[in-house]
Amino acid sequence: MITLTAGRGSLNSICVYCGSAPGSDPAFHAEAIVAGALIARQGLTLVYGGGKVGLMGAVADAALAAGGKVIGVMPADLVNQEIGHKGLTELRIVNSMHERKWAMAELADGFLCLPGGPGTFEEIFEQWTWALLGFHAKPCGFVNVSGYYDPMRVVVQQMADKAFLDQKYVDMLVYADTSAEVIEAFRAYVPPPPKWGVAPVEQRY
Ligand code: AMP
Repeated sequence: MITLTAGRGSLNSICVYCGSAPGSDPAFHAEAIVAGALIARQGLTLVYGGGKVGLMGAVADAALAAGGKVIGVMPADLVNQEIGHKGLTELRIVNSMHERKWAMAELADGFLCLPGGPGTFEEIFEQWTWALLGFHAKPCGFVNVSGYYDPMRVVVQQMADKAFLDQKYVDMLVYADTSAEVIEAFRAYVPPPPKWGVAPVEQRY
């Protein structure tokens, strides 16, 4: 049994989910650099998957170059494949992907999603699900670079339109064109009431 601490309103660290590949649009890489630098300049700790590849590596490198604190969380077998970033403030080695996702969620006060693939979607959807269940009260946001998240947004809206989800849980997601706007929205974020009415103080799952 593991425990996840609920968000407590202050923003000290941000978990970034993004592609382990750079993607085809140079704007993706450019925004990853902006995000990393911005997080560092705002005095926030960057939490991420610990990789040195793709947009993940770009975010971490930019945050480090701007003097920021960067915590990577990675399972031992991925580190052994030498995918791990060697220059981080801290690289936490964990035993499994599930432990890794939990540790990242616990360390962060908000979840910022840049463009990415299935790993990125899985991570942010997990945190969105936990947020609407009241397991935590931390914001989830998408930096919609070049409209990358427009199709996903349509699918998410359909969940409410077809009565699988209350509209307030669609509206709790932050979308903006820039990382700066997403972080600004995080600072003003008010979590919705949890789906089953459970107080989101501390949950076991
Ligand atoms: P993807 O979007 O499928 O490229 O997966 C990237 C996301 O999944 C990142 O946010 C990471 O947290 C995680 N991830 C995928 N591959 C790796 C890797 N090689 N090292 C660390 N994390 C990874």
